[in-house]
Amino acid sequence: MKVPYLDVKNQYNLMKEEIDAAIRSVIEDCSFIRGAYVEEFEKNFCEFLGGGYGLGVGNGTDALEIAIQALGIEKGSEVIVPSFTFIACPEAVIRNDLVPVFCDVDPQTYTLDTDDLKNLINPKTKLIMAVHQYGHACHMDEIMRLAEENDLFVIEDCSQAHGALYKGRLLGTFGRMATFSFYPGKNLGAFGDAGFIFSHHKDSINACRMIANHGRVEKYVHEFVGRNSRMDGIQGAVLNVKLKSLNEWNQRRSQVAALYDEGLKDLEEVIIPEIEDWCDPVYHLYVLRVKNRDKLQRFLTDKGIGTGVHYPLALTQQPPFKGSRDRELFADQLGSEVLSLPMGEHLTDDQVSYVVSAVREFYS
Ligand SMILES: *Cc1c(COP(=O)(O)O)cnc(C)c1O
Repeated sequence: MKVPYLDVKNQYNLMKEEIDAAIRSVIEDCSFIRGAYVEEFEKNFCEFLGGGYGLGVGNGTDALEIAIQALGIEKGSEVIVPSFTFIACPEAVIRNDLVPVFCDVDPQTYTLDTDDLKNLINPKTKLIMAVHQYGHACHMDEIMRLAEENDLFVIEDCSQAHGALYKGRLLGTFGRMATFSFYPGKNLGAFGDAGFIFSHHKDSINACRMIANHGRVEKYVHEFVGRNSRMDGIQGAVLNVKLKSLNEWNQRRSQVAALYDEGLKDLEEVIIPEIEDWCDPVYHLYVLRVKNRDKLQRFLTDKGIGTGVHYPLALTQQPPFKGSRDRELFADQLGSEVLSLPMGEHLTDDQVSYVVSAVREFYS
């Protein structure tokens, strides 16, 4: 049996006619950059998030960069970023002439460790980047309390957490702004690069809109030097179609996760994802922690099972950021232990059972 790690074609197969028709309309209307389809998606995605303001942009990395720029933070200030996540997060900080400070992640949620976070806050700190890793929420009550006490902004990176909840409330609705990636492999994926910035603050989204559109106030008047990062019409149209199924697909991910949990929880050698009772995750990834990860990965590959490693190195182990912390972090050990099993609405129960049996066979 073959079990693909990811199957981006599946969603297209499920709704081929609707997606083809949507793309055809964009082409017929020549609504290539922004335009009615993107505006409709902005409206729909804000509705999905319970109401607010939103802007479609070029990709999830741009979304972070632009959102940070819109805060107008003084150059050289510090931004707290998790030490174990995608490199886009510190990149967006550095591109704004700010300094990323790497916070450890905790062994339960793999998100910002709030004890370490507390110690890192100092007068130069201006922003906390709360990344909801693998689709599991950060400790939002503690993060928002620390932000309030110290007068810090919070940006939530929801690139792996479309539709996930913290204490029943949608992620992306806590911070000053939230960013999303619609990279094709995300829970909600476009047919190319696309990203989103969401906020309850109209001013923040207006600032982002100007930054992302050449600092424009009208067609040939540029109030400041901006940049070009706009969502394409085709991406807006595809996302409008797919958004309708996001909750259903997320539910299927949770069912798959429950089957993995049930099949693997008694294995001593395997740590399954720990879900806090205050979180409804969306399982962007289903990540095991194991001691002999590379061997297990090879074993699964030989059985036709696709896997991934998110991420092989902590950010503090990547060349640009080496030695930026004063001590060894929990995150430093994670890179050699994490293994992402196949995850997505494309998986059948039989495929999941096959993966479970293969992992069990490896340890028998
Ligand atoms: C995917 C991802 C991004 C970047 O999104 P792109 O659309 O690929 O630029 C940023 N942050 C996190 C946590 C991500 O998973």
